[in-house]
Amino acid sequence: MAVLIFLNFYCSDISQRLFYRSKESAMLEKCQLAAAEIGSLDVLSSSTVAALIEQMDPLTATRLVVTDQDGITVYDDLEGSELGGYCLLPEIVSALECRDAFSWQYHAGAMQSKCATPIISYGSVIGCVYMMESDPDQGALIQSLQTNILAITLVLEIIVTLFSLGYALVSSLRFRRIFASMRIIRKGDYSHKVVMRGHDELAALGTEFNQLTDKLQESENKRSQFVSDASHELKTPLAAIKLLTDSILQNDMDEQTVREFVGDIGAEADRLNRMSQKLLTLSHTEGQRGGDCEIVYMAPTVERVARMLRTIAQEHRIELVLDLADDSPILILEDDLYQIAFNLVENGIKYNVPGGRLRITLRREGENALLEVADTGMGIPPEALEHIFERFYRVDKARSRKSGGSGLGLAIVKNMVERNQGTIRVESEVGKGTTFIVAFPAFDTEVDRV
Ligand code: ADP
Repeated sequence: MAVLIFLNFYCSDISQRLFYRSKESAMLEKCQLAAAEIGSLDVLSSSTVAALIEQMDPLTATRLVVTDQDGITVYDDLEGSELGGYCLLPEIVSALECRDAFSWQYHAGAMQSKCATPIISYGSVIGCVYMMESDPDQGALIQSLQTNILAITLVLEIIVTLFSLGYALVSSLRFRRIFASMRIIRKGDYSHKVVMRGHDELAALGTEFNQLTDKLQESENKRSQFVSDASHELKTPLAAIKLLTDSILQNDMDEQTVREFVGDIGAEADRLNRMSQKLLTLSHTEGQRGGDCEIVYMAPTVERVARMLRTIAQEHRIELVLDLADDSPILILEDDLYQIAFNLVENGIKYNVPGGRLRITLRREGENALLEVADTGMGIPPEALEHIFERFYRVDKARSRKSGGSGLGLAIVKNMVERNQGTIRVESEVGKGTTFIVAFPAFDTEVDRV
């Protein structure tokens, strides 16, 4: 708004300046002509000046004044004016100081131009000629120009104001839409989407908002899937326990059978215990970043895992081979590394064949430090490979259950690997064996082996 008002004044000022630049030179020329004629007079008096002006071509000025070097009027064609008095108008004062003067102003509907020039005789100022022209046409023109510019400014101001109001209204409506959507999401309807057209910041906010609700929806889906999977998995051992206790209570059994049934109940309870432990671990690792990471070499942890599981391996007649020479330091939560190695080695034993081999290798691949767990077991069918990291997924449910599997081990491994900036991949051939390859960025600094 202020800019428009400034423009209004600026434009009218420029137009006036342009006009008066040409006016100034025309008036000065006339003044100087008259001053030259008057300067040639022998005596500068009222009568000589009046006589000379009589003979000159009409000067077309609204007022013509001639003063002596003291500013005393010797000629003034303004009606009713008296001669012999001081006439010290600013332009006259300038001219008596030997400077041409010109000024203009808008007055009473007309443009007034005033001009004065010194009368010089034999090198000294002996008086001055002052002219004033009043131009009502020009005044009217400038007045109408100003009025037009003012009108245009006003129209522009109205347009800008209307546009600003409209924009503010639309923005506020769009904000309200976002707030309404937020309230809907707060009530739990994560499937709700806010519709924001356009390419401005609010549209970008709408897109971000929708992506956020997508994420919420996704994690809500995961959560309810997790709960339903978990309760489904817990149901099986609970149903087995119920069946076994009912059988003991209802049937007249010999002591040996009762002992067997109670043993089975204990096994199911152990399974429930293991499963709840793993569920806890899984819910702790899901979506969480690693905690206090440390720089560790992998070999000591892998050796610890091998020591823990060697007895079970021997029971299954599996040969454990460790190839840990090419070790590199990595940045990891040491407990996570232990759990990752433990689950993979345990699986390598569980899903191996009697007399088989399990090789654990540490090696370097470019920037990465690798942990490879390769068994000579039954292998995983290609169609199952993409699912084995899902919660509760088991290739052979019966066998997995028999070996105490819950289908959670690999899901835990994947979460832990990813939260430590690692990756995991699997290569497998049915009947030949499976290799899990875990890669972590190597942390190549001089650290002591832990
Ligand atoms: P589980 O507790 O059942 O072992 P996991 O999540 O550790 O659960 O493994 C998921 C499934 O992947 C297992 O049930 C098994 O069918 C398959 N699997 C995992 N490791 C191996 C392996 N080394 N060889 C063959 N199959 C495997």
